[in-house]
Amino acid sequence: MKNNLIIGIPAESRMIKGIYRNNVNSPEVSAVVDYGGIPLLIPTRNPDLMDNYLSIIDGLLIPGGADVAPRFYGEEPIPELGDTDALIDESEINLVRGAVNSKIPMFGICRGIQVINIALGGNIYQDLAAQSPTPVLQHYQRAVLDQGTHHVTVDSDSKLATILETTKILVNSHHHEAVKEIAESLKVTATSSDGVIEGIESVDDDLVMAVQWHPETMYKSDAKMARLFKDFMDRVRKYQ
Ligand code: MN
Repeated sequence: MKNNLIIGIPAESRMIKGIYRNNVNSPEVSAVVDYGGIPLLIPTRNPDLMDNYLSIIDGLLIPGGADVAPRFYGEEPIPELGDTDALIDESEINLVRGAVNSKIPMFGICRGIQVINIALGGNIYQDLAAQSPTPVLQHYQRAVLDQGTHHVTVDSDSKLATILETTKILVNSHHHEAVKEIAESLKVTATSSDGVIEGIESVDDDLVMAVQWHPETMYKSDAKMARLFKDFMDRVRKYQ
């Protein structure tokens, strides 16, 4: 058993000051480092190369980011859809499918929960406010992201409840898309009071755990959020 667990994190391509840069947010990197992993930046301009990264990583963290191009779940874009980048979408979808095949544990955060669901056959709302059949809470919070703003009820039968040691928590929220129809191999583990899906996990194994909120900006002051990263690294070790 090796001690150095390599955690792949796909990078966004962002134009900053005239140069395209591979962008990964610091809080996810810090959380991986704090729980004993070695973060590996995965460039996302060549979706066909994802097998190369899957062959060296022990775990896959799919982080927050832009919207997902709706063609990846069989829809045309509605006016409320935000920025998309098909190359990161396709790269991450390839990574998720490859991770399932190679039994590489995953942790999905915000956009990550959506990408994992899409990659495994589910779909998402392009814009909650425009498409939810019933009124929704403020899911794109105006508060800073290290503070929770809405509550989530956790299914007591889920692994998520075991990790969090509670069935009701305050979470932050920085999304306008959300899981709609869930993939067959996954189950819903958490919802907000408006019925929006805020957590999913694998039905038959421990490969997928994903949340719609951002534990990486809360874990330093909230032990429940920290346990999500500890669980991720425990799962990575288990499947090594
Ligand atoms: Mn939310």
